[in-house]
Amino acid sequence: TLAQTAPDYDALIKQAHQKYKNNNDGKVADYIPALATYSPQNFAITIATVDGKIYQTGDVKKAFPMESLSKVFTMALAMEQHGPKEVLDKLGANATGLPFNSGLAVELTKGAPENPLVNAGAMSTVSLVEAKDKTDRWNKILNNLNAWADASLTVNEPVFKSEMDTNQHNQALAQLMESYNSFYGDTREAVEIYTRQCSVDVTTEQLAKMGAVLANNGKSPYTGKQLLNEKYVPQVLAEMAIAGLYDGSGKWLYTVGLPAKSGVGGGMVAVVPGKYAIAVYSPPLDSAGNSVRAQQTIEYVAQATQSNLFLAK
Ligand code: GLU
Repeated sequence: TLAQTAPDYDALIKQAHQKYKNNNDGKVADYIPALATYSPQNFAITIATVDGKIYQTGDVKKAFPMESLSKVFTMALAMEQHGPKEVLDKLGANATGLPFNSGLAVELTKGAPENPLVNAGAMSTVSLVEAKDKTDRWNKILNNLNAWADASLTVNEPVFKSEMDTNQHNQALAQLMESYNSFYGDTREAVEIYTRQCSVDVTTEQLAKMGAVLANNGKSPYTGKQLLNEKYVPQVLAEMAIAGLYDGSGKWLYTVGLPAKSGVGGGMVAVVPGKYAIAVYSPPLDSAGNSVRAQQTIEYVAQATQSNLFLAK
């Protein structure tokens, strides 16, 4: 059967690229002004396998801001530092049923962010990272991203500035959380560091390598370093399944059956435990805020490789 034969990843990603490159559905995010400057044509696909192979096609040299993708890896850092029980107690593991930056969601639960992948929960996660001071907090977060990506990542300063100039809503969310004692540090500092982590640039290769750490029980197939306790990996993947695609998370799980995370910069990563991670970059987003071509590409590859987690293997 197909499942027993090693899939031809190279052929699959080229087929998907060909099939979806002319789909012009969706709209490039513009609520962060600097994001509106990216070409809707950009399209890159990378698969990173647990045995350390890389397959890629398209605009793979083009970097893009991680945005919400960064939330996964800082959550993993907080989990590594505090354990999954504290993450569940303080950040939660439920869908909000409301948009990713909803203040109403925080108000309805009296400060429980429900999960670490909505903005409120992600900023609270940043405040939960154990650090001596602001510089140390940023260094820990960036070093963690670097270790997962096997790269020296950098902040996209124009995106950071643009987002800092327009992040009043996130500041309000953080203060609302603080008013309910669901914030664990200075709100201004945490919002700034959160904004900085969202502005870190990656390529699909770097993002796929980050996903491959999760596919490989928390150990980087590229550096051999154990970056997350193997026991905690299912919890990180569960959070992605619950809330990785904003309000589209349930439909995604129903149709594709894989934990994944998207960002409003147009990046997306999905994880097939024990096998591979796939990262796609294409800026136009659907109404839920997820890259249109990225979802199509991942669905195509996941189906061809029979990767749906709910299929008996
Ligand atoms: N930095 C963005 C924000 O806080 C990230 C949003 C996203 O990718 O979902 O609004």
